[in-house]
Amino acid sequence: MSLLVQKFGGTSVADAEKVRAAARRALRAQQQGHQVVMVVSAMGKNTDALVELAGQVCDNPPAREMDVLLSTGEQVTMSVMAMAIHDLGGKAVSLTGGQMGIRTDSSHTKARIQSITTERMRKLLDDGNIIIAAGFQGVDEDLNITTLGRGGSDTSAVALAAVLGAEMCEIYTDVDGVFTTDPRQVADARKMANVSHDEMLELASLGAGVMHSRSIEFGKKFNVPIHVRNSGVFTDDPGTIIGPIAESENRAVSGCALTKEEARITVSGVPDKPGVTLTIFEKLAAENVAVDMIMQTAGQDGRADISFTVLESDLQRSLAAVEVAANDVGAEGVAHAANASKVSVVGLGMATQSGVADRMFRTLAEAEINIEAITTSEIKVSCLVSREQGLAALRAVHDEFELGQPPNNRVTFADSLAAARKAKEADAVAVVSRLQAMEDLTIHGVALDDSQAIVTLTDVPDSPGIAADIFEAVAAEGIVVDMIVQGVGADGKTNLSFTVPQTAVSKSAEAVGAIVEALGGKVASNPSIAILSVTGVGIRSHTGVGLRMFRALSQAGINVELVSTSEVKVNVVVLDDKGKAGLQALQAAFTDVVE
Ligand code: ADP
Ligand code: ASP
Ligand code: MG
Repeated sequence: MSLLVQKFGGTSVADAEKVRAAARRALRAQQQGHQVVMVVSAMGKNTDALVELAGQVCDNPPAREMDVLLSTGEQVTMSVMAMAIHDLGGKAVSLTGGQMGIRTDSSHTKARIQSITTERMRKLLDDGNIIIAAGFQGVDEDLNITTLGRGGSDTSAVALAAVLGAEMCEIYTDVDGVFTTDPRQVADARKMANVSHDEMLELASLGAGVMHSRSIEFGKKFNVPIHVRNSGVFTDDPGTIIGPIAESENRAVSGCALTKEEARITVSGVPDKPGVTLTIFEKLAAENVAVDMIMQTAGQDGRADISFTVLESDLQRSLAAVEVAANDVGAEGVAHAANASKVSVVGLGMATQSGVADRMFRTLAEAEINIEAITTSEIKVSCLVSREQGLAALRAVHDEFELGQPPNNRVTFADSLAAARKAKEADAVAVVSRLQAMEDLTIHGVALDDSQAIVTLTDVPDSPGIAADIFEAVAAEGIVVDMIVQGVGADGKTNLSFTVPQTAVSKSAEAVGAIVEALGGKVASNPSIAILSVTGVGIRSHTGVGLRMFRALSQAGINVELVSTSEVKVNVVVLDDKGKAGLQALQAAFTDVVE
């Protein structure tokens, strides 16, 4: 019998009437012949209210007790939902995370799912019950209650859909689906018929709050068809399928997002030698801080500057850790700047089309927005800007890439649904063997690309339009730029590095030479570099991947020149005579490759 998972977010169960509407929807699905598991969030803003309550009694609430408290929000919803179903004449049983056998690790307030047992659920379903599952919670091996992190009910829902082999995981929310950007911030944002896992992973981790990014890791790993749709009583319209294919492969950019509360930390004058990056990031990992936008640019006299961004809420903890690390490695100083926001564009088509980055830089320049830092990966470009300009930056790029207009050659909702179902069918047997250690990191491969060269620009003035001028000049030569990293330099100057194919290195240096020299900057290039990469699922949310890479390279005595990260890949640049040894070191460090 086919099984549906239906997840209802906070606004979709905010009051008694909405609870009853959700209950009716589940009953309707059951009457249509499905077994139904509902996953519910806390009602309305109840989780926020509980967080506030904790803050009123305690400055620094113990994480274990926080989880006990927050898990009650979902328990209120699950019990009243079961009551509503009984009242409507149906059969329902509510279950907490522990009762469902959702086993997690013990990292309170951000626990990861390790396994889920299904016997009890199967029996209840076979007896004709609708199961009402509390979202966002589980238990560790000592039966302590844990929660998965804010927004985590999406992850509960997709994980349950994976273990139960659900035909579909429906995510009911307060918007019509996944939009090209947050429809509450950009009026002409457009609902997408479908979005690929990799794009949604990036969008979610770059600020699109509509889905918890870890839920998409499950969706991708276990081929769960996901349908995001509106819970409104009068709508039954299709929403957005998150599945294996993109809406249009012709389009370089498919969506954009904003992370508002970013802060930047710069460690300057770091000795440019193996192991230094490792020391800094080890200290941060020990504090459980997720680091983003790592920018390491070549400095002078054998020293480099390393800057990176963290969430502003992690700034104080991060600074304390970084001060210690900077001291240990003999760096010259640590500086920070809060009040930043990160605007990003995402699209699978970017991997094969050039000209996205320079177009984004030009758009921001025309809006008189200065870019404080840049990082890129195959499928995204992120720019750090001042917080007060964040929203204007988001709107400008949404406009520039015409995201409000549907793409040509668009894959229809029906086609994407069929593709998602097909992928699930094809994978059904393999999935069962992978269900242990569900939320563990999955590494797909380690690779070496020795076809690239690097161009480094130093002492470039940090003002609007410079990045646009530089990358337009490169694009005008028809050269495809792969990684771009812009970090901070001293005295209002900035350093920029980018990689291009070796065959194009002298042409690239020439193309930018006049511009950079007119600005008083310097151009250097190195045609002999190698790019080492690790690909997988959950690369960014498992902060340990970068660390494992840095550790392996450092132990092999290899210096890291440049780093760029995305949800599915970490790239590091090393000198080309270290490429092979680097690859071997990584192969030895990542033995857990899943084909
Ligand atoms: P729920 O309580 O149902 O889990 P959330 O508030 O977590 O709902 O997510 C829905 C919200 O996500 C929307 O109201 C919208 O403002 C926001 N959002 C951010 N980015 C996007 C996007 N790209 N598409 C749709 N909604 C988005
Ligand atoms: N109630 C939790 C939160 O508000 C989990 C969720 O809604 O997904 O974060
Ligand atoms: Mg949510």
